[in-house]
Amino acid sequence: MKTQGHVRLDKVDIIGNRIDYFFSVSDDLKKFFEDELHMFVEYEENIENIPLSILVIPFVANIMPLMWITNCILWIEEIDREYYDSLKQIKNAYQDMYFSYKLGGVIVPVKVITNKYEVKRPAAQLFSGGLDSIATCIRIVGKNPLLINIYGWYKNKIIQNDVFDSDKKNITDFGIKNNLETKFVKSNFATFIISKEVDKKYSKKLKSSWWFGLQHGMSFIGHAIPLAYKYNVENIYIASSYSLGEERGSCSSDPVVDIEIKYSSGGVIHDGFELIRQDKIRLVVKKQNEINDKYTLRVCSFNDRNCCKCEKCFRTILGLVAEGKSKKELEQFDFYIDKELKEHFSELMDEKIHLFGVDEEYNDYWIDIKKRILENKNNITEEEFVKWFLGYNFFKQRKRAVLRYRITNIVPILKRKIFGENKQ
Ligand SMILES: [Zn+2]
Repeated sequence: MKTQGHVRLDKVDIIGNRIDYFFSVSDDLKKFFEDELHMFVEYEENIENIPLSILVIPFVANIMPLMWITNCILWIEEIDREYYDSLKQIKNAYQDMYFSYKLGGVIVPVKVITNKYEVKRPAAQLFSGGLDSIATCIRIVGKNPLLINIYGWYKNKIIQNDVFDSDKKNITDFGIKNNLETKFVKSNFATFIISKEVDKKYSKKLKSSWWFGLQHGMSFIGHAIPLAYKYNVENIYIASSYSLGEERGSCSSDPVVDIEIKYSSGGVIHDGFELIRQDKIRLVVKKQNEINDKYTLRVCSFNDRNCCKCEKCFRTILGLVAEGKSKKELEQFDFYIDKELKEHFSELMDEKIHLFGVDEEYNDYWIDIKKRILENKNNITEEEFVKWFLGYNFFKQRKRAVLRYRITNIVPILKRKIFGENKQ
């Protein structure tokens, strides 16, 4: 009989503020991992007093979904009782999500250890500085949440990274302004498993990708658990990116998965699922009006500033304008545009609309923005811009732009077709 594939956690080094996990894997699983077979997590404070059965959780959170889809075993020395028990419920929640694919796999620990603490803090929050997490923070600010930012894109070691540095500065400022404590965690969790390889084999069967569908949500929470333990936190909050009733697909960061995650004496709350994006904008605007000061919103992913030229920036600016903000006031949220809004965006559309994903955005977000514009029309200050937006036929313009693009490029396209691949 063929032996079942496995991952074995061989050694965990806990020194100062850092955990290094060294593991081995059976031959059939090797293709899914980088050669080093090493994962690390670095906090900014000493974690040596936290029990091993809690400190293994960031590793287990990453490996278990892989065990479930490959029907393999994770061998491990020890694990926290509550987390161990909750893995069964988490697996069930994933199974409901991936109902057409049978999940297998188990975790086999030598020891299951009960760790309990008396709750001292009601909340910690996974915090990226984006709209979703700011909206959640506004909602739970009375619970004095510990803001935890996790950056998992390092390779085998930590090197300077502009996106992390700029996120850190921004989040630290946010913490100071709002009188909230911030924590930063660095890890290689997003790179030590080769997601491309997992996707090659499983994304079709699962109809979702490894990173989006299985790994990221559970993993972010797993990294926050040692801090939740250290600070005796009642619940880790994670902000929802989707809203009630919306087609949410199979995503590892989902209310039905998150609610099952338990550890020591704490749990997880997936917050804001009942809000649409425009509700979140309204919360932020209300807060900014109250404090009457700069309230930075970072929406441009993998950019160290809001570019004001991508769909996400456009959508957020529209949302703010729908709440009555003027071009000048947009600067309070960190959107700087030189020209008038109408001029800036109509020029941008002329130039780039063939690159905008109009269809999905139109249905998912723009409809809510339009509704809010009409509802709030007496408070709109950017009338010219709003008039342009409401009258602009994005579909028609996009079609035209794509056609124009094809015509301008017809000669090189034909050349390529006739003469084969043209490298110029
Ligand atoms: Zn942008």
